[in-house]
Amino acid sequence: MNINWQAVESELELAPLEADTRSRLVFLGTIMTLTPSGKYYTPFAHSNVEVCDACQYHEPPCDPGLPCSTTQCCEACKDAAFWLELETEAEKRGLFVTTSPDCPTDVLIGQLID
Ligand SMILES: [Zn+2]
Ligand SMILES: [Zn+2]
Repeated sequence: MNINWQAVESELELAPLEADTRSRLVFLGTIMTLTPSGKYYTPFAHSNVEVCDACQYHEPPCDPGLPCSTTQCCEACKDAAFWLELETEAEKRGLFVTTSPDCPTDVLIGQLID
């Protein structure tokens, strides 16, 4: 994951307060440019994404040392690992990950203001 968190944080400082007056948001990128698969899908409609048999029946991501497919992880698994890492990285900095209510493919990083 090559996200410039320093740039995200300085952009957040300049971002206007949201209507709730308790948070600031900055645009990180679209799901199509950020995720390994580059595909937008929901848990109930994921026919356009490659999901291996192993991940059909349990939650990806699998153990990276033991890929779910024989040689590598399927797209669903790689995407899930990406979201997990993104959320972990954001939480470390006191930030959160969300998507735009107007455009669900826009990924935003948010910060709550006390
Ligand atoms: Zn899989
Ligand atoms: Zn996997």
